[in-house]
Amino acid sequence: MTKSLPVPEGDSLHRAARRLQVLVGDRVAAESPNARGRATGVAEQIDGRRLEAVEAVGKNLILRFEGGVTVRSHLRMSGSWRVRAAGDPVPGRPWLVLRGERAQALLYGGRVLELNARAVRGLGPDILAPEPDLERLLRNFRRGDQARQVGDALTDQRLVAGIGNVWKAESLWHARVSPWRRVGDVTDGEIRALLETAARLMGRSVETGREEVNIAHRAGMPCPRCGTLIRSRGQGDDNRAAYWCPTCQPGPEPPVHPAPS
Ligand SMILES: [Zn+2]
Repeated sequence: MTKSLPVPEGDSLHRAARRLQVLVGDRVAAESPNARGRATGVAEQIDGRRLEAVEAVGKNLILRFEGGVTVRSHLRMSGSWRVRAAGDPVPGRPWLVLRGERAQALLYGGRVLELNARAVRGLGPDILAPEPDLERLLRNFRRGDQARQVGDALTDQRLVAGIGNVWKAESLWHARVSPWRRVGDVTDGEIRALLETAARLMGRSVETGREEVNIAHRAGMPCPRCGTLIRSRGQGDDNRAAYWCPTCQPGPEPPVHPAPS
């Protein structure tokens, strides 16, 4: 059985971007208590600069400072941004500490922290943009490999940025589309429905701070809609678990994968 680790998805990055807004407009004092964070050179470049904007782009958090300095943070498996009142003690050794007038932001477990937004280029449209461009997203899906499984395509950040394993499973279940169908066999209407559903579910998660999960990580439990047991199988190059209800989401049997290493 495939074991899945939680990975920050677009909605958690958007929540972090919201929390960090309290620092926007402040001239920040920056330091890196963590040696690996210090090695990125980010803190010394931004120390004393005014923070102009913070935004989530896909699974990246982009911080723009005066003077055209841009910092990209990608949280990977275990990173997190926390916001504390100015002057509160700083626990542990964060990768980056940004001290503003009223608050300080702490980045733990950065993994990817760098001084430009290069990696953001090449990303598809953000699923959590205020008005996601569904037609452009649909064209991206149609331009790509039509033989690819739709569940795999949904988490390809070049097609659509921000969807990870949990919201992939939930969107497919809500839209009643099997993750194992080929993109070419999924209608335009179904792809639109999948993307609209992902945007709606993730948007609600940003608003409420809660993830309403029906199917992800629930293999062997009854489908909340029909009672059929939920199935799970590794999918895509990284063999991360796909979840589906074989009754609500009919489709081809998944190919037999080698066991995850
Ligand atoms: Zn079902």
